[in-house]
Amino acid sequence: MDVSRLKFRRFRPDRATDADRNRHAETSLAAGDFILPFFVVEGTCIDHPLPTLQGVSHLSIDKLVEAVGTARAEGVDKVLLFGVVEGSLKNPQATEATRTDSVVARAVTALKEAYPGVTVFTDVCVCAYTDHGHCGVLHGDQIDNDASLPLLAEMALTHARAGADFVAPSAMMDGQVAAIRARLDEEGYTKTQVLGYSAKYASKLYGPFRDAAASAPSFGDRKSYLMDPRNRREGIEEAAADLEEGAAWLMVKPSTFYLDVLAGVKARFPQVPLAAYHTSGETMMLRHGAAAGLFAWKDALLENLYAIKRAGADFIITYNAVEAVQFLK
Ligand SMILES: [Zn+2]
Repeated sequence: MDVSRLKFRRFRPDRATDADRNRHAETSLAAGDFILPFFVVEGTCIDHPLPTLQGVSHLSIDKLVEAVGTARAEGVDKVLLFGVVEGSLKNPQATEATRTDSVVARAVTALKEAYPGVTVFTDVCVCAYTDHGHCGVLHGDQIDNDASLPLLAEMALTHARAGADFVAPSAMMDGQVAAIRARLDEEGYTKTQVLGYSAKYASKLYGPFRDAAASAPSFGDRKSYLMDPRNRREGIEEAAADLEEGAAWLMVKPSTFYLDVLAGVKARFPQVPLAAYHTSGETMMLRHGAAAGLFAWKDALLENLYAIKRAGADFIITYNAVEAVQFLK
C-alpha cells in the first residue's frame, strides 16, 4: 500500500475517535441555529398533541409561554408562531387574521413580556383564516394577487405592533414583501424585519402541517402561487426579488428536497441570512422510518439537519429543535 496516497483517509483513519472526526468537521450545529415553530390556539390550559405531526401540539398562550421557557432552557431562543382558529371565525376576507388582539398578536406580547430576549417570528398568511383555505382573497375561483397584498400587510402590522421581531410572509403573492415593508415603515415599525418565504415550493411535504394549521384548501391546490418543484433558477430569482423588496432574511421551503436551491441562494447572496424550513413531511418521514426500524431517529435527524446547514442554511426552522439540541450534547 502506498501510504502517500492515503490523503483523505488521514481525516478518517482506522480507530479514529469522535474527537478526531470533530477536528475535521466542516459543518456545525448549535442551539442558536434553530427556529422552533408553534401552533397557537384560543383558550387556556390547552396542550393538544397533533396526531399527524408527532411531538407537536396545539397550545393556548399560557402553555405556549411554558413551552418556550422549556426551549429556552435548552438554548433555543427563536420561535415562529402560527395561529389556528375555529372554523366559525373563518371567512373569505380572513378578518380574524388582522384583528389587533388576534391569538397570534396576544401570543407575541405574552412571549415578549415573559422573555424579552426571545426572538419572535410570525407567519403572515391568511390560509388558516379564510373559509376557502387559500392564501389570499379570491376573485371568483381565482386568487386576486394585488387585492391580497393590503390584507397581508395589515396582518403583518398587527404582529409588529404586538412586538414581533420578524414577520414572515408565506403566501407567495408577488409584491408581498414590498407591500408589508411599506406598511410597516409607514407606521414607524422600521425595526421589524421581514423574513421572506422566498422560494416556497408546491410540495407534498406540507400534509401534516395543513392538518395542524387546519389550512388545507377547500378546492383546487396552491400550484398557481407556490413554485414548481422542477425550477431551481426561478427559486433563486424569487429570493433576489424578496431582497430587492426589502426582506432582511431569505428562506427556502421545504429543505431536504431543495438543497440545491439553498446552495444556489447562498452562493448568490452569501451576506444575507438564509433560513431553511424543515417541514412537517420531512420530520414525519424520518419519524416513520425510525419507527419502522430503518435507522435510529437521532442519527437520521442529525444527518438531515447537518445536510441542510452544509448546503448553505444559516438557520433551520424545525419542529425538532429541542430534541436536536439534546442529541448534540
Ligand atoms: Zn398560506
